[in-house]
Amino acid sequence: MAIVEQKHIWIKGNEDALQEQGVFSLTSYDPRDRLIRAAKAWSICWVLAVLALATFIPVVHLLAAAGLFIAGPIMGYSRYRSLSIANDVTGVCPSCRKDITLKIQPEDSLPIWTYCPVCGAPLHLVAK
Ligand SMILES: [Zn+2]
Repeated sequence: MAIVEQKHIWIKGNEDALQEQGVFSLTSYDPRDRLIRAAKAWSICWVLAVLALATFIPVVHLLAAAGLFIAGPIMGYSRYRSLSIANDVTGVCPSCRKDITLKIQPEDSLPIWTYCPVCGAPLHLVAK
């Protein structure tokens, strides 16, 4: 079962003196969920490979089908290896003092460098 966890972090500005608390939200997966996620990714790639084989465009027919056939196990393995994925970070920007929600990449982990969506100031997200 997927569990949404929240960790308290520091949101630091360009100068280390400027910092605010934030909440880093991530979803953790147990082994059964990781296996299901891996099977979905693998099967989607192979279904798309079969559909690519059914096209009548020669380049798409050969290259896309071969690429998707190879990508299936790779995507499945990478999905199975990921214990958790990052959702977002909420907190207060240390530069402009406004509430912010930062969208981050699922594979990101702390520390993260990003920019404030309101004022554009560089932010450093670190664990407490
Ligand atoms: Zn800001």
